[in-house]
Amino acid sequence: MIDRILPDLYRITLPMPFRLRHVHVYALLHDGRVALFDTGMNIPETYKVLDEALAAIGRATKDIDRIFLTHMHADHCGIAGRIQEISGAAVYLSAPDDARLQYNSRHEELIERARDFYLPQGLPLKAMDNLVKLMAVFRKATIPFRVERPLAPHDTFALGARTVEVIAAPGHTAGQMCFYFPGDGILLAGDHILPDITPNLSPDIFRPEYRPLKSFLESLGAVRDLPVRTVWPAHGDPFPDLARRVDEIRGHHAERTQLIVEALQGREKTAFEVSRILFGEDLPEFDQFLALNETYVHIVELMDIGRVTADEQDGLVRYRPA
Ligand SMILES: [Zn+2]
Repeated sequence: MIDRILPDLYRITLPMPFRLRHVHVYALLHDGRVALFDTGMNIPETYKVLDEALAAIGRATKDIDRIFLTHMHADHCGIAGRIQEISGAAVYLSAPDDARLQYNSRHEELIERARDFYLPQGLPLKAMDNLVKLMAVFRKATIPFRVERPLAPHDTFALGARTVEVIAAPGHTAGQMCFYFPGDGILLAGDHILPDITPNLSPDIFRPEYRPLKSFLESLGAVRDLPVRTVWPAHGDPFPDLARRVDEIRGHHAERTQLIVEALQGREKTAFEVSRILFGEDLPEFDQFLALNETYVHIVELMDIGRVTADEQDGLVRYRPA
């Protein structure tokens, strides 16, 4: 499915086998070529839909000369490697996300780190085993690619008559980037700001000092007052009022922090136990994992301001009000 945003900028909606069911990528026509912003997942349907969409605007995969990636998740960069093989496209991704992606090739180490991190937070063994299985699936969902040059904040690229600016928005991943077209007031927001949901926040098990929630909230501040007419997210519909959506998301996280403070009253609890109070007791296994992540990133900030302390005993970390 393809939608025209500007005479030379298109949104292509690609299928996804789970969760949100779709991901939007963006194609900018320039100099007879195509710059693609995100690529979709490595599943057969992606190639088919992308080929058809490009054909509808008089282009083909071999015409893609640049691929700009918002972040390293498989639904965004899954087939960058394949396109690069076909067209020789230059691929741009932030350094933190490129580094994180490299761990996919160190699979055993990744699994070991995940166990060392999540089991002490109380994740049940069954959910852990499920996660290990999924990690193997996710690994195949991205074809390896070469990064031409790491994206840095405020990088600008001239593409035909347009200029695109790179806006750093760490949070959802440590190297999440948005792409801003100042002349048109368009923000390609990736997963940083979504219309209906807030992006999943999870700790980086290779960089314990990284604080996803703190970074995410700061990154919301960094985009809030950009003169944007329309935000085009990677999932869901475009929306006009960026500042209002930013304020809503901030409010949502403030509320969640408060709920966690309340959940921590009474006896001390693991992060997983807190997540069950917040998100319910009968979530599917992968959702248990997401709920734990979301809870954990809030607890980290509560510990930072001295409202919560932790004790480790019998291999489990338990939290209580300070
Ligand atoms: Zn993502």
